[in-house]
Amino acid sequence: MWNLNKPKLQNSLDDLTEIEKHSRSLNTTHLPSIQALYDLYNRQNGSVSEAQHNGICTDAQKGLRTGYDKTTGKGIHSNIRADLKKDVDKCPMCSVGNADTLDHYMEKDKYKALSMMRQNLVPMCYHCNTTRNHTGLQHTDFIHAYYDNLPKDRQWLKVKVTYAAGAIYAQFYVDSTILTDPTLRRKASRTIDGLELNRTIGKEIQSFLKSTLSCGKQSNLLLKITLQNEARKHMEDPYFGKNHWKSVLLSYLAEDPTISIDKLSLYL
Ligand SMILES: [Zn+2]
Repeated sequence: MWNLNKPKLQNSLDDLTEIEKHSRSLNTTHLPSIQALYDLYNRQNGSVSEAQHNGICTDAQKGLRTGYDKTTGKGIHSNIRADLKKDVDKCPMCSVGNADTLDHYMEKDKYKALSMMRQNLVPMCYHCNTTRNHTGLQHTDFIHAYYDNLPKDRQWLKVKVTYAAGAIYAQFYVDSTILTDPTLRRKASRTIDGLELNRTIGKEIQSFLKSTLSCGKQSNLLLKITLQNEARKHMEDPYFGKNHWKSVLLSYLAEDPTISIDKLSLYL
C-alpha cells in the first residue's frame, strides 16, 4: 500500500469549464459552488460531509455524474482518465495488479458532485476496485492514496509467517506501535481486510520467492545472505520502499534465525 502524487487542484477546477460546455444539466451558475466543494474536499484532506456535498443542486450533481461516463474510451473527457493513469503503473493498494481502473474514493453514486474531481479518482487495479465495491468498503474505512500520508521512513506493515511442508503462509498486518495515528491505523487495517490483500498477495509469494531465491540453494548461509541482500535492496529502493509487501516479507525471512533451505524448499 503506498501513496500516489496528488493531482493539482487547479486541474480539477479547469476541468469544470470543459465539463459544463458538454453538459445538458450543468450551467455556469453552478460552477462557483462546485469549486467551493472541491476546495473544501482538498482542505479537509480528501473528504466532505454528506451535508456539504448535498449543498450542490441536483442538476449540477447529475451533470457531473453523467460526465464521468465520458471519461472512458474515446469519450470527450478521456483526457482526465489518461492524465491520472499516466505515471501510475501498479495498483497502490495491492501493488500486484496494474492500475487500469479509477476508484472513486468517495462513492460516485452517493457523492455525485465528486464524480469527476481528479483528487477523488484513484488509479487502482480491477480486482481491488471491484472487491471494494462488492464488500461495500466505505471511504471512512479506506486509505486515500492521495491524502492519507503513510510513513515511508519506518516499517508499519508487518508480516506473520508460518511454515508448513515446504510452503510458507504470510499474513500481513499493521503494526499499531508504528502507525500510531488511530484513523490512519484503522483505515490501513480495514483496507487490508476489506480488499482481502492477504489473499491477493498470497498468490504472488511463490513465484516472487522462486525468482528471488533461485540461486541461493547451495547452503543455508548463502540463502541467509541472499535474503539479507535482497531485503536491503528492496527496502532502499524508492519504488518498493520499506512497506511494500516484498520488502516486508524479505526482511522478515532475512531476520528469521530458523530460516533454512528445508523451510523454503518449495521456492528454491
Ligand atoms: Zn490492487
